[in-house]
Amino acid sequence: MHDVIIVGGGPAGLTAGLYAARAGRDTVLLERMMAGGQMALTDRIENYPGFSQGVSGLELCAVMEQQAAHAGVRLVYEGVLEIDCAGLAVRTSSGWLQGKRLVLAMGATAKRLGVPGEERLAGRGVSYCATCDGALYRGKRVAVVGGGNSAAEDALYLAGIGCEVVVVHRRDSLRAEAAVAQRLLSHPAISVRWNSRVAAFEGEQKLTRLVLEGGDAVPASGVFVAVGRAPETELVRGQVDMDGHGFIRAGEDCRTTMPGVYAAGDARAKALRQIVTAVADGAMAAEGAGE
Ligand code: NAP
Repeated sequence: MHDVIIVGGGPAGLTAGLYAARAGRDTVLLERMMAGGQMALTDRIENYPGFSQGVSGLELCAVMEQQAAHAGVRLVYEGVLEIDCAGLAVRTSSGWLQGKRLVLAMGATAKRLGVPGEERLAGRGVSYCATCDGALYRGKRVAVVGGGNSAAEDALYLAGIGCEVVVVHRRDSLRAEAAVAQRLLSHPAISVRWNSRVAAFEGEQKLTRLVLEGGDAVPASGVFVAVGRAPETELVRGQVDMDGHGFIRAGEDCRTTMPGVYAAGDARAKALRQIVTAVADGAMAAEGAGE
């Protein structure tokens, strides 16, 4: 029996672990891939306090992971197959783990556009992670779909490594924060197709072009889809209250509708999804889980 079981090793989960372990709780954290969550997919993080020159996503992952481990969190790199919220238990391929408290910090994952060609060409020109796959397209023409922070940062990253970038956005203004949007709009290697929706991705073996609604085509060797994130909450659907998009409803104290179960980070329904808000959630969830 563990005091606290945390599902997910992004900034919310690692911080919940740090706080719970420092408070003397027997804390186990389950992560199916590498620690850090979406931070690991981010090239440079410039809005996390304490790093005046910014910090690489991988570096921030590593220091948060080390700090949690040093505090005494047992980090287990296994995927969670089942979650029993009422029973405060979690199943991995090694069997069931029983806890007194559960912190759900599974985060969110990239949304698909759902257009023809997307699935077939995924990994063959269609990507959801510019920092993972961008280097394959150095010196080539690529497209980025979306107008939020992720799309803007992806476009700037790709332009920075020598790509010619066309941003395809469905509206006439960007959702990304002003400073990033400004950098994008003034970058000589980036152009924007405003008021444009993708109708299909085309190419035989590899992507060669995007077809837009209305029939225009944008030739590109690669496309990076950055149209938002969907929560990874399938395993707890029907067990805790969620909003219409599957984000777990919990207040600032991170308590869900199930006693003993807390939601932290991007999986929680909230207004601002950032690393700072994820770590804040992690601390609040651990605080509640200590009662
Ligand atoms: P987001 O902010 O939700 O932006 C998604 C973008 O994709 C929007 O511009 C949206 O268009 C567009 N979009 C959504 N569905 C679409 C569709 N079906 N077809 C075409 N376009 C579509 O998502 P995000 O950029 O992934 O960011 C997620 C969260 O993480 C946000 O809270 C963001 O602020 C945060 N984040 C922060 C940073 C940072 O601060 N450095 C970096 C990355 C992410 P509309 O604008 O028309 O809705």
